Amino acid sequence: MFKITKTFAFEAAHYLKNTANEGCKNVHGHSYKFKLVLCKPELDLYSMVVDFTVVGRIVKSVVLDNLDHRMLVPAEAKQVPSQFIVVMPPQPTAEVIAKWIYDRLKEYLPLLESVEVWETETSSAIYVGEEDSV
Ligand SMILES: [Zn+2]
Repeated sequence: MFKITKTFAFEAAHYLKNTANEGCKNVHGHSYKFKLVLCKPELDLYSMVVDFTVVGRIVKSVVLDNLDHRMLVPAEAKQVPSQFIVVMPPQPTAEVIAKWIYDRLKEYLPLLESVEVWETETSSAIYVGEEDSV
């Protein structure tokens, strides 16, 4: 099995409603980083899993253009103009953001296995696609 990874970054604000950490209830920002893992048993015609350039183009249009410099809000938030917000139910934790990215990219990158999102330099969450986790 061959695996490739590619890492991206974006800036966004968020807040959490359901958390034991009082600081997380206030609007604040993160320099998020995320890593995609794509896997394939055999290499393609070009001896690649997928061309990194193709992955980069897809991620820009499907993920980065939608999340960068936006506000990620819990399901029930309605007070920020809609063009600036991305609703992530139930709330925008690193875990939920990882699944949000995975769900949107899987259609365009069928070899996608997992997405890891770093909220800080030392804290990350990984979502592994259901069919890949067994
Ligand atoms: Zn936060």
